[in-house]
Amino acid sequence: MKKLLLFCSISFLLACNNTSENKAENQNTLINKETDSVDNFGIVIHGGAGTILKENMSDSLELAYRAKLEEAIRTGHEILANGGTAIEAVKRTINVMEDSPLFNAGKGAVFTNAETNELDASIMDGETLNAGAVAGVTTVKNPINLAWEVMKNSPHVMMAGEGAEQFARERGLEMVAPEYFYTKNRFQSLQSLKERNSEETVLDHDENKTAFIDAFIKDSKFGTVGCAALDKNGNLAAGTSTGGMTNKKWGRVGDAPIIGAGTYANNKTAAISATGWGEYFIRGVVAYDISAMMEYKEMSLAEAAKEVIQNKNPDLGGNGGIIAIDHNGNVSMEFNTAGMYRANMDKNGNLEIGIYGK
Ligand code: ASP
Repeated sequence: MKKLLLFCSISFLLACNNTSENKAENQNTLINKETDSVDNFGIVIHGGAGTILKENMSDSLELAYRAKLEEAIRTGHEILANGGTAIEAVKRTINVMEDSPLFNAGKGAVFTNAETNELDASIMDGETLNAGAVAGVTTVKNPINLAWEVMKNSPHVMMAGEGAEQFARERGLEMVAPEYFYTKNRFQSLQSLKERNSEETVLDHDENKTAFIDAFIKDSKFGTVGCAALDKNGNLAAGTSTGGMTNKKWGRVGDAPIIGAGTYANNKTAAISATGWGEYFIRGVVAYDISAMMEYKEMSLAEAAKEVIQNKNPDLGGNGGIIAIDHNGNVSMEFNTAGMYRANMDKNGNLEIGIYGK
């Protein structure tokens, strides 16, 4: 009996010792992880994906795109370097691209069939999983700011149309006349698309449907903008802003303002913003799908983004791309189109800008 008691006590002591060693080890891992992530930050942006080919691009236009992408990413990078939040960096970076006529967001948005501009945007905070989105606004200069207001200062996640505009006025956002969004290029794109599509070619005849879709895609020229960022506190955020697709009708809304489709952020996984043929990004729940694969299948960001953009999205019939950053600062810029305007910058200020295929 004495022997048994002695054996039990020794086993108990050994077990205690083990547990405290494990605890210490876990504690160390935790500390190491925390130290690693302290001061790590990064930012990645896109300015739309599509048939962007070197042979169709003048040198001066290419320079203009590169300069604007650089200006945008440096804006967000500076905020992060100074200890600002990922959400703030995302919003301000997107503002730079919204204010540029080069992109299909804010000034320079594509035209609807009714020759108006209807803008969509969304933003998400990966720390709280709070999010805000707006659809079909026509007089808000920076739709991403309104999405931010919806997230921060309303009990809702998504607002649309006139109600959203009223909320924007109440929050004191900068409002503009609808003509502010006009650019000659985008207006001409609408006219040439309309010429190739008589009103009758819509949706009930298979051949016509294919022709309609081909023209729709070729002339859409995409150009949506998006940003994903990791701040020094380890928080992630993502946002997307767009005019949608040229010649859209019937109050069509794409993926950009749909949380989980065009935008998603979760500190556990990654922050993601998408661009491309929105209907397929909604059906594939693309941004969330990437996050879910990371969370449940323990895939890396690179693996999950590749699977969704190179396999699942084209299998469904869609095209486009994503930019994303994970909680360790790894970046992905995955697309299945000829090109995607894109840039990323790490905590050391290393800058990478791309336009065409890899
Ligand atoms: N995804 C956007 C939409 O479908 C368009 C784009 O990204 O170019 O509205």
